[in-house]
Amino acid sequence: MITKEQVLEALSYVEEPDLKKDLVTLNMIENVEVDGKSVSFTVVLTTPACPLKELIERACVNAIIHYVDKDAQVKVNLTARVTSGRPNQEALLPQVKNIIAVASGKGGVGKSTVAVNLAVALAQLGAKVGLIDADIYGPSAPIMFGVANEKLFVKETAEGKSVIVPIERHGVKLLSMGFLADPEKAIVWRGPMASKALRQLLSDAEWGELDYMIVDLPPGTGDIHLTLVSAVPVTGAIIVSTPQDIALADAIKGVDMFRMDSVKVPILGLVENMAYFTPAELPENKYYIFGKEGCKNLASRLELPFLGEIPIVQSIREGGDQGVPVALDSSTPSGLAFENLAAQVAQQVAIRNATLAPTQTIQAVH
Ligand code: ADP
Repeated sequence: MITKEQVLEALSYVEEPDLKKDLVTLNMIENVEVDGKSVSFTVVLTTPACPLKELIERACVNAIIHYVDKDAQVKVNLTARVTSGRPNQEALLPQVKNIIAVASGKGGVGKSTVAVNLAVALAQLGAKVGLIDADIYGPSAPIMFGVANEKLFVKETAEGKSVIVPIERHGVKLLSMGFLADPEKAIVWRGPMASKALRQLLSDAEWGELDYMIVDLPPGTGDIHLTLVSAVPVTGAIIVSTPQDIALADAIKGVDMFRMDSVKVPILGLVENMAYFTPAELPENKYYIFGKEGCKNLASRLELPFLGEIPIVQSIREGGDQGVPVALDSSTPSGLAFENLAAQVAQQVAIRNATLAPTQTIQAVH
């Protein structure tokens, strides 16, 4: 007779590779059932985008066969409960588990493209995702989602508060600074005006429950960054760069800003965009137009995780222009690149949440 205790004992020898503790200690095992030689249980992962899913599943099966009964028939159910890196008692966005800032030193390196496709890829992997486009210099998420002409809808809550309803597309809830301005008119956001608008998107919108809220910041290091980190505790930041030297020099400034003592937002890692050019008809050929692995080398120099490289592919630009992000289809090489990126980001969030204290908001900056 196999007992539940034996099953748990065996699973206590299975280590979560990132968190470096066993699955039982991490409370990741639930619903253990035993019927003769049949054993089933649920493994609660820290994210549905976990890149180690299969590895953990195999290790569980092996542990039961090795420690309990070599003839056991093991069924592992995988589910996920995303962990949070935010303090528990937050007044603002209490149902949002993680806020992830996407930043870059320079404009035009593909920060918004990465933010949009990352959000879509996380949603494709089963997570609840929101995106705030806070790029005041050129809010592009509405175009990349194909919702540039949609009107925002405001509704009244049971408590009588008016809230903005995010637009839902491709499985992502979206709000953009672009929605607050006339798309026909150029708008120059003055600092306080932009800060107020971002605060409104955070506090007066019906975001509901989210595993990941992605915030696409303007390039550089400015007021909007400080507004974000003073309004909400940011779980971590991602820095996007091309491998080119001048882009990397600015990326370092971005890293330094989040690392400042007064800001202290953990950096989840660096993403290398436009890593190489691949012609659609010759997918095996790689041309390193902006230099090779500059961002990867920078990550290792700064001792930061390298989250992945995204090639320059015409379909990424076209997908952005047409409102159909490539991340919707992970069977294409560029879609797969974003799926891999999403898995790496989710993994770094889980590691961050297991190893670091919740981020604190910074004191008022204006
Ligand atoms: P940023 O937000 O850094 O200013 P964008 O995401 O708006 O940059 O990208 C700038 C331009 O480059 C856009 O036209 C976008 O479609 C294109 N682009 C970005 N990344 C890629 C890529 N990996 N492959 C092809 N085109 C890209």
